[in-house]
Amino acid sequence: MTGLGILRRSRRLADRVARVLAGAGGDWVELLPRLYGWSDRATARAIERVSGEGQAIACGAGCSSCCHLAVPVSVPEAIALAEALENLEPERRDRITARVMAVGKRLAEQPGVNRFTEALPCGFLDEGVCSVYGVRPFACRGHHGQTRSGCEAIWQTGRWQGRSIMAVDWVAHAIAAGLQTTLQRRRLDGQLYELNGAVAAVLQPEPRDHWQRGDRLPLAPLTPDQIQGDRGAERSHNGPA
Ligand code: SF4
Repeated sequence: MTGLGILRRSRRLADRVARVLAGAGGDWVELLPRLYGWSDRATARAIERVSGEGQAIACGAGCSSCCHLAVPVSVPEAIALAEALENLEPERRDRITARVMAVGKRLAEQPGVNRFTEALPCGFLDEGVCSVYGVRPFACRGHHGQTRSGCEAIWQTGRWQGRSIMAVDWVAHAIAAGLQTTLQRRRLDGQLYELNGAVAAVLQPEPRDHWQRGDRLPLAPLTPDQIQGDRGAERSHNGPA
């Protein structure tokens, strides 16, 4: 599939998701597992297709270079992550909470920091694995590397050189875009924020109530350039998305 073909399919899927969600009501955080299920099933089909075409997916346990990339999240995703954090075993929960807050603060103060040369991973990365894998955000679900060595080259160069498989990755991004459109139409905070800062911001009593009555997070949303960020550099290696 060409870059233009992917873009068109991505827009069509985002529109379809927004149309389906237009009739949905209730709690958007409760709805997330359903959307993650759509994303995972469609991603699995896309992986099967590209594997049949001879393209390999290199992702696997023990590889976490991409957990140093910028991760944009919506508010319901941040709330789901915060709730998963609360459910961890206390010692692990406290350790990860402290890290998420420290990383969020650092990235808010220094948004341009090179997270590879500074060895600054996502606060949820614990002993080499994602501690909240079941509720990892769309941005994490939609990232698939072609070669492990390409992703790990970052440790030598400080610059992301991994090649993602856009014919797979667009699915999760399209569903996330459909959700974002729906939230904005409902006049909720549908902005995207840096993951660690957003989770730190929703670690407060009753975060769902605050957000669902229209409150904004007390931090700056990511700009389009920041959302492209490392992944934009990565896409430039792959041609247009
Ligand atoms: S949420 Fe999990 S998968 Fe996503 S960047 Fe953080 S540790 Fe990695």
